[in-house]
Amino acid sequence: MSINFKDYIASVQDFPEPGIIFRDISPLMADGKAYAAATDAIADFARERKVDMIAGPEARGFIVGCPVAYKLGVGFAAARKKGKLPRATVSASYQLEYDTATLYLHKDAIQPGQRVLVCDDLLATGGTIAATIDLVERLGGIVVGTAFIVELTDLHGRDKIKNYDMLALTQYE
Ligand code: AMP
Repeated sequence: MSINFKDYIASVQDFPEPGIIFRDISPLMADGKAYAAATDAIADFARERKVDMIAGPEARGFIVGCPVAYKLGVGFAAARKKGKLPRATVSASYQLEYDTATLYLHKDAIQPGQRVLVCDDLLATGGTIAATIDLVERLGGIVVGTAFIVELTDLHGRDKIKNYDMLALTQYE
């Protein structure tokens, strides 16, 4: 089924702050056929790269990555914010506009040599996905690609992850 994913993204002006256009994937999640088409497209990309695991950052990376993991019959590694993971972790910090943020993975979330696809809903500056990739690689995972529903091209996040194959289902400037 051919889908124009833009038909299922709501653009919200000045959220969460003035000057930002928030690209909301909720309408896509609300439509079973559109959500399945997005999942199938990412699963095809992942299957071609023979992945053993999917990884994604809290929280919308779970919404994108978990159904792909289920479809392929592989596991999912959840990169989480501070204070959420109960056992030993590795952490990676990255720059936000005025601040830094940190993501964590359980140390046993990825086994050395596993082939991993890293997913999120949206690529903006690339800081979130680069931190998630860093965590996977520090655990010995091989990142074989990245996948997003939306890419914001003007922010050039793609340049930060140019050494990895990347899939974006739709793009905005
Ligand atoms: P970045 O680290 O700059 O690539 O930002 C990507 C992360 O922030 C993703 O997890 C997105 O969910 C979120 N994000 C950043 N900008 C937007 C936006 N304009 N609309 C929706 N989500 C965004």
